This record gives sequence, C-alpha cells and structure tokens, in this order.
Amino acid sequence: MIKILIFIYFKYIFNLNKEGSILKGKLTIKKEWCKGCNICVEFCPKNVLELKDEKISIKNLEACIQCNMCGKMCPDFAVSIKAD
Ligand code: SF4
Ligand code: SF4
Repeated sequence: MIKILIFIYFKYIFNLNKEGSILKGKLTIKKEWCKGCNICVEFCPKNVLELKDEKISIKNLEACIQCNMCGKMCPDFAVSIKAD
C-alpha cells in the first residue's frame, strides 16, 4: 500500500510545471503499452476513456478536462496529458 502511495505522489509531483500548476496539454495514449487493466477508465471523472479489444481508447475527447488522473493512475504510462 505504501509503495502505491509513494508511486502516486511522485507521479503527481512530476506532473507539476514550474509554477506548481498541473500541466495542461494533449491527451495521449500508447496502446502498445496498455495491458487493459481498466484503472484509467474507472478513475476518469468525465467518462472520456473506454477499453476496446482490451486496449485503451478515447471515446469522448471533448469531455476531457485534462486533470491527468488517468496518467497518474496508469501503472504502465500508457495514457497521460502531454504538455503542448
Ligand atoms: S485527463 Fe482527466 S478527464 Fe481527461 S481522460 Fe484523463 S482522467 Fe479523464
Ligand atoms: S490504466 Fe493504463 S494499462 Fe490500464 S487500461 Fe488504462 S491505459 Fe491501459
């Protein structure tokens, strides 16, 4: 449990920019890195993501608020918000 909390903390820290704000940018997925665990789908507050053929897919990009919760939770770095 403590390892998971440390992992989430460091993923959060590395998502901060110099001003301490969460990065804003483009929702990016790497299907080849996805193992289909569904964690990002369940944690997305806006129902943006879905699994298709056991790989991550974007179903509603317009609803994305770029919170990067998916990026923080994905254990395989297969989805994230990349800075513009
Ligand atoms: S950045 Fe936030 S709103 Fe957008 S897909 Fe990821 S979890 Fe959902
Ligand atoms: S959390 Fe990562 S590995 Fe799991 S379904 Fe989402 S993108 Fe794939």
